[in-house]
Amino acid sequence: MTEGKVSRREFLAKTSLAASTAVAGAATTTATGQVGAQEVEEYAQSDYSVRAKALVSVLTKKNLIDPAEIDEVIEFYETRVGPHIGARLVARSWVDPEFRERLLSDANAAATELGIERRRDLVAVANTPQVHNLVVCTLCSCYPWFILGLPPTWYKDAPYRARAVIDPRGVLKEFGTELDEGVEVRVWDSTAEVRYIVIPVRPQGTDGMTEGQLQVLVTRDSMIGAERLKSPV
Ligand code: FE
Repeated sequence: MTEGKVSRREFLAKTSLAASTAVAGAATTTATGQVGAQEVEEYAQSDYSVRAKALVSVLTKKNLIDPAEIDEVIEFYETRVGPHIGARLVARSWVDPEFRERLLSDANAAATELGIERRRDLVAVANTPQVHNLVVCTLCSCYPWFILGLPPTWYKDAPYRARAVIDPRGVLKEFGTELDEGVEVRVWDSTAEVRYIVIPVRPQGTDGMTEGQLQVLVTRDSMIGAERLKSPV
């Protein structure tokens, strides 16, 4: 290695140290009441963004990565995978009770049945009038991206990850979903190996709809459990 240059490993170590020091500093300020939690969160997010851009820039200059390949990956996540894939599972489960059973007992096999490419183990959990399921990753941001595409920003945020398990009803209320006291809330913590999809309750007033029409009604957030589907009529 020539003098004045840093190795890739050193660069990563230095940027990580700088970022963690900066975030730790902001968090200390918060403890004194000078900066709000939201501001710290925004600060941390912008810091990650700067780190990512710096990494891309340096790694490109060193010919270690090709920006075109990165664009390809982003394009894949933005257009080819998305909630429309999860919606196929949901709509099929609404029109085919036997498929629903198979989906809930072995979502991996059910996904394969519909030709859906799966990159992780999948578990489907069904909402009913008595049970509401909510998905989170308390550790980081594990998400069933192969059937839902890119996760919403709030899914990766520390406040959601912490509060979804401590106060799921409160979180759901803030999302506009107020559950009756009698409804049981189940929170599913995703892992590196297992990803969850919530099968929302089929909305009322959809009896005459085709499977294709039903797919369009299924939202990303409903498959995370963050909202219930409303009747389209
Ligand atoms: Fe995670």
